[in-house]
Amino acid sequence: MSTEDTEIEFEEIGLSRIIYGAWRWDTCEPFQISWGRKIIETCLEAEITTFDHADIYGDFRCEEYFGRVLKESSGLRDQIEIISKCGIQFPSSRRPGVNNKHYNTSSEHIQLSVENSLKNFGTDYIDLLLIHRPDPRMDFEDTADGLESVVESGKVRAVGVSNFLPWQFDALSEFLNIPLITNQVEFSVLHHDPMHDGTIAQSQVHGFPITAWSPLGGGSLFNGTDEKSVRLRQCLQEIGEPKGFNIAQTALSWIMQHPAEILPVIGSNKLDRIQEYAAAQDMVWELQDWYKVVEASTGEEIP
Ligand code: NAP
Repeated sequence: MSTEDTEIEFEEIGLSRIIYGAWRWDTCEPFQISWGRKIIETCLEAEITTFDHADIYGDFRCEEYFGRVLKESSGLRDQIEIISKCGIQFPSSRRPGVNNKHYNTSSEHIQLSVENSLKNFGTDYIDLLLIHRPDPRMDFEDTADGLESVVESGKVRAVGVSNFLPWQFDALSEFLNIPLITNQVEFSVLHHDPMHDGTIAQSQVHGFPITAWSPLGGGSLFNGTDEKSVRLRQCLQEIGEPKGFNIAQTALSWIMQHPAEILPVIGSNKLDRIQEYAAAQDMVWELQDWYKVVEASTGEEIP
């Protein structure tokens, strides 16, 4: 796979600089279409056009909730990009016959899962399909066949992975004739592993963006009482406040300042919070301040 090919694929999909994740939509039950539409409209006003899903979110219900909004809002599908994921299975009334949590990354399952997701969303294509987690018994050739076949059929525009280490990403890429256009991993001021395990370096080498889940630590940045969270809140406030940015904006901006151009996948269900995230792109950083956040996270001077 050439870097040039990967860049072309990424640009064609056109992911927004900040992505909205619908994982927590099931915490707002009973689900109301008007509420979902307001979230999507607020995202669009904040130039967030990409929406992240997985088949499993909300016990296999969040895709369908999103689909109900799309069905009631003519023209909305054309204004957004949809990401979904597959490969994790667990017992649910919506998955009869599944008795224990397991992975299924077979070609057959990928194709079935895409059909299900399309039905849930009420659309005829998904912009980006990710293998949700690396599967220890992955048959790379079969998984690659499944990913290629959903792209060839036009049901999926591009494919990627999530939570893969660089060697797992490379192994699957070896069997594919199309590029993996992202690796969605946990990355935030609280969680730095991708900077040290080669994940971010690999994205720079190949020219694809990392998408960063739980960019605010799933909320623990604000309510964590451990020393690390307390140190980080104080540090982010000291850096952001004089420039007019709050802790959330400063934490998102820290991610976006990385030269790998990482795309945060935010998960708030609060309209005012979603609105304020967009401004994070405008914060100007001193290089030294960026490293202050690293030190506040580790609790140690950088070596
Ligand atoms: P996040 O943006 O780090 O966390 C969102 C949570 O933080 C919400 O519960 C939100 O509550 C809370 N929060 C935000 N601002 C706050 C504040 N000022 N004070 C207190 N709480 C605050 O992201 P996330 O929801 O953990 O994850 C985002 C997306 O990543 C998910 O929706 C999903 O799409 C994706 N994801 C992917 C994987 C994967 O394996 N690929 C794993 C996990 C998540 P409010 O709603 O009240 O604002």
